[in-house]
Formats: sequence, C-alpha cells, structure tokens
Amino acid sequence: MDRDLPPVFGARGLEWRLHGRMTMDQFTRRDLLRLGAAAAAGLTAAEGAWAGEPAGDAAVRKGAGRRTRRLRIAHVTDVHVQPELEAERGMAACLHHVQSQKDKPDVILNGGDALMDLCAVDRARAKTQWDCWNGTLKRECSMRVEHCIGNHDIWGIAKSESRCDGSEDFYGKKWALDGYGITRPYRSFDLQGWHFIVLDSTMPVVESYVGRLDETQFEWLADDLKKTDAKKPVLILSHIPILSAAVFYDGELEKTGKYEVPPGWLHIDSRRIKNLFLQHPNVNVCLSGHLHLIDRVEYNGVTYLCDGAVSGNWWKGAHQECHEGYALVDLYNDGTIEREYVTYGWQAKKA
Ligand SMILES: [Zn+2]
Repeated sequence: MDRDLPPVFGARGLEWRLHGRMTMDQFTRRDLLRLGAAAAAGLTAAEGAWAGEPAGDAAVRKGAGRRTRRLRIAHVTDVHVQPELEAERGMAACLHHVQSQKDKPDVILNGGDALMDLCAVDRARAKTQWDCWNGTLKRECSMRVEHCIGNHDIWGIAKSESRCDGSEDFYGKKWALDGYGITRPYRSFDLQGWHFIVLDSTMPVVESYVGRLDETQFEWLADDLKKTDAKKPVLILSHIPILSAAVFYDGELEKTGKYEVPPGWLHIDSRRIKNLFLQHPNVNVCLSGHLHLIDRVEYNGVTYLCDGAVSGNWWKGAHQECHEGYALVDLYNDGTIEREYVTYGWQAKKA
C-alpha cells in the first residue's frame, strides 16, 4: 500500500493485485532472483541483498546484506502548463515542494504532458507553452530532470486545428525533442545500480494517436533489455500506462454497457510488452501518467504505477479523487520499490 498519504488525499488511490496466468516457473524465476542472495547467505527475505548487486557497490554500502535504498525519485507527470489558471505558479509550487523535501529526491522524472496541449494549436500558442515550461523549469528547478514525451507534447497531431501540413521544421516530436533538450524520444541509462528505460508511448495516427511502440522501438527495447545485466533491476517510464486499473475510470466507459478501452488510454501492445517482460525477470517497475489518476497493479512480478497529475483536473481542482500531486518512489538494492503520492497544497483558482 502507499504509505503515509497526506490527509488531503481523500481516497487512497486504487490498488489492484491481478493474478493472471502466471506459471510457477515464471513466479519462481523472478522471486528466486530477488531472494537468491538472501537464501545463499542464510538471511531472511526482508534482510536479503539484491542478488545481482555489484561487488564494488556492496563493499561501499553500509550494512552489507541488508535492504538499503539506492535512489529516491520524484515522478512529476502531467503538469500541463499554460499561461491560464495560474498553472506556471502551480508548476513552480510543485517544484519547490519536491526540492524542499527533507528527504530530497535524487532526480526528477518528468512523465510527459508537460504542456497543456500542442496537438491542436498553432505555432504561436505552442511557443507560448514551451516558454512557460522552460522558463519555469529554469527559474525554479536546480535538480536533474529526465524527460519522457507525452501525447500533448507533440505539435500538430490534429493537423486541421493546428494549421500544420507536416512540413514545418518543428512538426510532431521535433519540438518535443528540442523543448526537452533530448536527442532521442526513447533511451536508457543507469543510476545507482538501477537501469532506467524511457519509452515513447505515443504513435500519431490521422488527427489522433495510439499508445504503442513501433517496430523499431520495440526491437530497441528488446535489445536494450537483453544487453542489461540480468541481475540489475529495471525501471521503465512511459507516458501512457502499459497496464492500469484506473483506466476503467478515465471517462465513463460503463455508459456504453461494455468496457472498451480506447487505444489512446492504454498501450494497445500491452500484451506484447508484458510477454517481453516475462523473459526479463529483472523488470521490476513501470511508471506512467496520462490518466490523472493513481493506481498500482501487480502483474507477473512487475509493479505498474500510475502516478496522478501535477495539474489534477487540468488546473481546475481534483480529478475525481486524484488531487494535484506527484509521486516519490524509493528504489532499493533488492529490486523492491515504495511509492508515496504527495500533494503539494495547491488550491485551484476559482474560474
Ligand atoms: Zn497524456
């Protein structure tokens, strides 16, 4: 369960434990990987070290053989900044809150949709939003930030409304790469004994998008996982959830009498990605945003966390039971994680 949720967070988010068709073999492979070192050392599971911990790290780590935190991250997603509704002030308040934590995070992961919307606006309005984001980030944040592209960060998906024809120099994801100061829409890196993979969830289609990895990106992901030390824990960051329980509350699906989840709400290639993860028991946690809701799904040994929204209901208050906030996620040497959703006291401006 999330721990120590602040009182302002009325409902405790949604916690689902799905037990799909997990074979004993899959279960034991992943769990043995986590517990192998503990068993070998005669320790209890709670005290066990991560089986694949590099010898050098173990040597410098105090209390070798015990569960220790490697990294604390702030997952800041769906800021949706704009000049209206005091969103820039809200973004600054959130960044201050992150940076003034007594137990300060080591890095911020921006989960995407940093801008209100670039899909259906003209160049001038797109530039205004990038100026809001980069101006506020530069003024108010001194921490390392790693960026993930969201659907609203892509300029001109709705060509008719944005008055784009696709030939513009900053069309599509080009402006997102430039605005975020990154060279590739998906990538990976290592931090403190964990492997981080940032995915590009949004595949534009005519006037819209779907949540999916194209073939090139899927092959890159498969290759990246293959190249990663099988004992190193992996965190995957995507904007659109790969698996989610809260997706059933994004909109009012029940009104149709069927639960038909649109492909823009959840990765339509979720099964393919899940099958890939089965070959890599060191994939431990997947973080997402997009839904402006909070949930936790455990499936086949992977923890899928959807982490609310800094903007709540797009700066108009809480979105359902999800207040404006961000997540603190602690990553441990044994591959386990703890997540806390933190509100930062924002009061939406009265319209
Ligand atoms: Zn989104």
